[in-house]
Amino acid sequence: MHCPFCRNPDSRVIDSRTSDDGLSIRRRRQCPKCNGRFSTVETASLSVVKRSGAVEPFSRDKVIVGARKACQGRPVTDGDLAILAQKVEEALRQTGQSTFEANEIGLAILDPLRNLDEVAYLRFASVYRAFESLEDFEAAIADLRADRHPNED
Ligand SMILES: [Zn+2]
Repeated sequence: MHCPFCRNPDSRVIDSRTSDDGLSIRRRRQCPKCNGRFSTVETASLSVVKRSGAVEPFSRDKVIVGARKACQGRPVTDGDLAILAQKVEEALRQTGQSTFEANEIGLAILDPLRNLDEVAYLRFASVYRAFESLEDFEAAIADLRADRHPNED
């Protein structure tokens, strides 16, 4: 990695610290040429196996694109979607796996989407959990109702 100040291709690690959740390492570096100091954060990369069998890196942007479709016409902001994508990534990292099926990404989106907007959640769930009938929707809606606090109704 190049020094961000003078673009020198070499740097020296002067401190390494593992994050509290153990999922990333932060390194303090110093450039031997200009003595500039900067930090790098290292995380394991996550991969997604698509239905076609192709493997691609996990992308928060793709999570946002998928969730945004379900949120059309709903009061959900780009900021909400960015936080949702971050939560999805955190949930995936917590599993300790590094490779996921596309379907698992979809399922990981459901929980945070449910907290964000119930209508968007139902739209998304109908695709990813392959709802086939009105009864599937009714069961999902009954679930949502059961989880609500009584004074929110
Ligand atoms: Zn430098």
